[in-house]
Amino acid sequence: MIIELSLTKQPVLVVGAGSVGLRRAEKLAEQGAEVFLLAPNATPDERFHVMARAFNDSDVKGKALVVAATDDDQLNHHIAQLCQRLGVPVNTADRSQGGNVRFLASYQKPPFDIAIGSKGLSPSVLKVLQERFAIMLPPPFAQLARLVGEYRQKVRYTLSSSKQRGAFWRRAMGSRVVEYLFVHRPEKARQELDSWLANGGAPQVGEAYLIGAGPGDPELMTLRGIRLLQQADVILYDRLVADAILRMGRSDAEYIYVGKKQSDHHVPQEGINELIVRHAQAGKRVARLKGGDPYIFGRGGEEMQEIVKAGIPFQVVPGISAAQGVASYAGIPLTHRDYAHSVRFITAHRRPGMGIDWHNLVQDGQTLVFYMGLTSAQDIANGLQGAGLASDTPVGVVSQATTTRQQKLISTLAEFAKPAQLLESPALIIVGGVVELSTQLDWFSELIND
Ligand code: SAH
Repeated sequence: MIIELSLTKQPVLVVGAGSVGLRRAEKLAEQGAEVFLLAPNATPDERFHVMARAFNDSDVKGKALVVAATDDDQLNHHIAQLCQRLGVPVNTADRSQGGNVRFLASYQKPPFDIAIGSKGLSPSVLKVLQERFAIMLPPPFAQLARLVGEYRQKVRYTLSSSKQRGAFWRRAMGSRVVEYLFVHRPEKARQELDSWLANGGAPQVGEAYLIGAGPGDPELMTLRGIRLLQQADVILYDRLVADAILRMGRSDAEYIYVGKKQSDHHVPQEGINELIVRHAQAGKRVARLKGGDPYIFGRGGEEMQEIVKAGIPFQVVPGISAAQGVASYAGIPLTHRDYAHSVRFITAHRRPGMGIDWHNLVQDGQTLVFYMGLTSAQDIANGLQGAGLASDTPVGVVSQATTTRQQKLISTLAEFAKPAQLLESPALIIVGGVVELSTQLDWFSELIND
């Protein structure tokens, strides 16, 4: 718990005029405190009452707060003990010196204050973290805070227990109410809240979120994806979703593994759709996490069609598809003015009887990206060569791209199929001149390998 204490017009003593002492004195003066700065080497400063002399025990008397920030460890210790004995709150730069008040770095993003502490470890790390946190607070959250103020009375009147009211607001923070604020429609946000209040405090049906989790590196998840994942009550995920991404979900959410390797259909597709619909109809917010982008070889379209049929509100959040992850992290631009003007994403895994039209794929200035191609690498090599693609066409195979286990094979159409079998799935096969650029543009292999 953090306790905020108003120091306006209160006498505060800062002992030590080094960089820590001065910084704290400034902060305290900004808060409106009457700051006494005491140090033998202190120089006049109109913001403070400067006392250029050594410390006396009697200096702490009557102070609302004392900061012991001298470069003498023992003295800081002594001041801290003295203050504690006299019941005067005291701060020391280093907590081991016995202070009982901490200064937390804080960052204002009205109407919010973001404060974080690291037990005195590193102010510069805190600064970076605050800025990271601030981007997690997009403008609608400020509007939402105001809406809470506006509705407080009404909610208190309608929902009698504080538990119900807590649940109501927690739900509001992660619901269409926020979405309406994002698209600048506060009147719709109010309508939504009014309809919940008319119905006992909660929406009638839940929602479904189809979220692209990207190719592996958790940092490739979008901010919107993270936000929706964090509000989900139920999370359905498959094999390609990284653990670190799952951990972004709420700890009290229900996690359901729905599998899906080519061979292992843990929960059949109809089962997945049914799960989403059933939970959403029970009022839950259901996140369906998919590797890469949900609308690229992810059956996302099929799943959402079912959701629409069931009349459940839904959203889709794009993800970075494997092809894009591979391109950036293995240095293979998908287009390049010297090599390719178009790119094709192809699934090598087809329903029986739906073969690939190889001739159709062979065109000048085009990059071919095969998903799910590792087990049919030889067919790809044969098919493309049979359709006239030169056997020395560069081919790159990249497995577990964007993760610390990424592996890359650079070869040719004639030769890649066999060595590719040594790589682990998931892997992507890229065919075309752009693959040559990989030696020049790969920045990631160097980061993860010796
Ligand atoms: N919707 C996903 C694709 C699902 S199909 C997307 O947009 O990326 C599964 C195939 O994606 C795998 O067989 C493999 O070809 C490819 N894939 C997924 N993640 C990958 C990764 N990290 N590295 C290489 N290929 C990957």
